[in-house]
Amino acid sequence: MTESGPLRCLTIDVEEYFHIEAAHGRVGRDSWDTWPSRVERNVDLLLDLLDRHGRRGTFFLLGHVAERRPAMVGRIADAGHEIACHGSGHDRLHRLDADSFRADVTACKHRLEDLTGRPVQGYRAPTFSVVPQTAWAIDVLADTGFTYDASIFPVRHPAYGVPEAPLEPFLVRRGPDGPTLLEVPPLVWRVGPLSLAVAGGGWFRLLPLIFMRRGLVQAARHGRPAILYFHPWEFDPGMPRLPLSRVGRFRTYHGLARSAGRLERIVARPARWLPVADALDELRRAAASRPVFDLAAAG
Ligand SMILES: [Zn+2]
Repeated sequence: MTESGPLRCLTIDVEEYFHIEAAHGRVGRDSWDTWPSRVERNVDLLLDLLDRHGRRGTFFLLGHVAERRPAMVGRIADAGHEIACHGSGHDRLHRLDADSFRADVTACKHRLEDLTGRPVQGYRAPTFSVVPQTAWAIDVLADTGFTYDASIFPVRHPAYGVPEAPLEPFLVRRGPDGPTLLEVPPLVWRVGPLSLAVAGGGWFRLLPLIFMRRGLVQAARHGRPAILYFHPWEFDPGMPRLPLSRVGRFRTYHGLARSAGRLERIVARPARWLPVADALDELRRAAASRPVFDLAAAG
């Protein structure tokens, strides 16, 4: 089905509920395989929902999940969705350096390419952790054959964000001489001087849906593509509870029961819903009309 209207990209970061950053330091990596897996159930729910609406999206898969659920990766690809890379071990880039990051993304990319027989073009960092301090990631991603990155969030946030970054697709490089990479930033709603991160996460689950909707309307009015993001565990009210902080529990477990209905209402809207890989020509053209963004010089 070919639709007209604004370009919208639905992206899913495919990880287990125990991979979340709020569990870092509370749920040890060596205990990951002792927690019940929920990802397959939740991905199947999302595949069903998207299929009902004839939508295809981009699934950024974590290597730790792909290794344990190879058949699920195949089902996602066979349903026509793009398979992209969320790294191997869900480490924020702040905890890695250029060499360990190279090993992390290369292992994940090769695993996904072996499973699907298709090149992996896109990368998204855990918790949007491509920021000025981790700008070396751009060189590594360009050098390891990625076509685009979807990790720079143009907002001010304690854990992530590059508030100076453009809201539209742009070319990014680490410094004046580095290679450039196409960057597709998640949706931001500008309200006066504020940039609100309405692309997913807490703005989607904890607050009224009107925030995301207003962001979508504004992006369409300005001709900006809207990149949205979700996680399979956000649609799973029955997942086991982790020993999180009080804030972590609220942010993680609030609003789960209404997520599926909300996503349904969002994807039911007419728009050109495409995987990022299917919109690359258009995204590159939009990026080429803007100056190259020097990530190391930001902030
Ligand atoms: Zn993640």
